[in-house]
Amino acid sequence: MNTLSATIGRRVTVGLIGSLAAVSLAASAASSAGIKAATGGRMPDSVAQKAVVLFSGKAEDVAANWLKHGSNQNAAWKVVKGAMVAGGGDIVSKQKFTDFLLHVEFKVPYMPDAKGQGRGNSGVFLQGRYEIQVLDSYGLDEVGSGDCGGVYGKGAPLLKAYKKPREWQNYDIVFRAPRFDADKKLTEHARVTVFLNGAPIQNNFQIDGPTWGENFGEIWEPGPIVLQDHGNPCEFRNVWVLPLPEQGAQRY
Ligand code: MG
Repeated sequence: MNTLSATIGRRVTVGLIGSLAAVSLAASAASSAGIKAATGGRMPDSVAQKAVVLFSGKAEDVAANWLKHGSNQNAAWKVVKGAMVAGGGDIVSKQKFTDFLLHVEFKVPYMPDAKGQGRGNSGVFLQGRYEIQVLDSYGLDEVGSGDCGGVYGKGAPLLKAYKKPREWQNYDIVFRAPRFDADKKLTEHARVTVFLNGAPIQNNFQIDGPTWGENFGEIWEPGPIVLQDHGNPCEFRNVWVLPLPEQGAQRY
């Protein structure tokens, strides 16, 4: 396990951010001990302080950082015991991103009588366009692209790294946005690497297009993080994004 995967495989806890009145304030406050804890304390401070905390356990975070999908209203999700609970529509981060590392922890409910897509369904949409499925897929013999950890409808998870419903799980998602030339013509598809509970379940997977019809602007533009309300009370906590530059320096 290399340093990065060791780092992002750790379960982490987001601490206090001084003020979440604005995302920029959250980012500027990121040099606090809180963000160091959020990133597992293993990234150098100079990197960790670049992370944008979208939810650290407080109701104020929801109002500060998230909108109800399709509106300019604050997100309706309630905060219970430090977790956001899906309900009242999808939520959309106010801040938009291009390339990034996203950390998010989730818990699916126990719904023994529900089947398939009705069993603990939610989702994490990258740039609002590409869904990494959240579902209760624990115990299934075979999992597909609609199961938890799937790039929805396009790529099944490589490993069944699931925990049981009602247990906290975590995603660390490295996303590389699609590339376009000066004429806005696609030159490279989006790519995603996903760790579920520390296990790599998507390995630099090429995503050949959005997984649903919502684009949140033009596809070459930055996009938000969207969390899905699919009618099941899935919970989320410790949501943060480390934006990444689109490339390094050219020097050797
Ligand atoms: Mg879903």
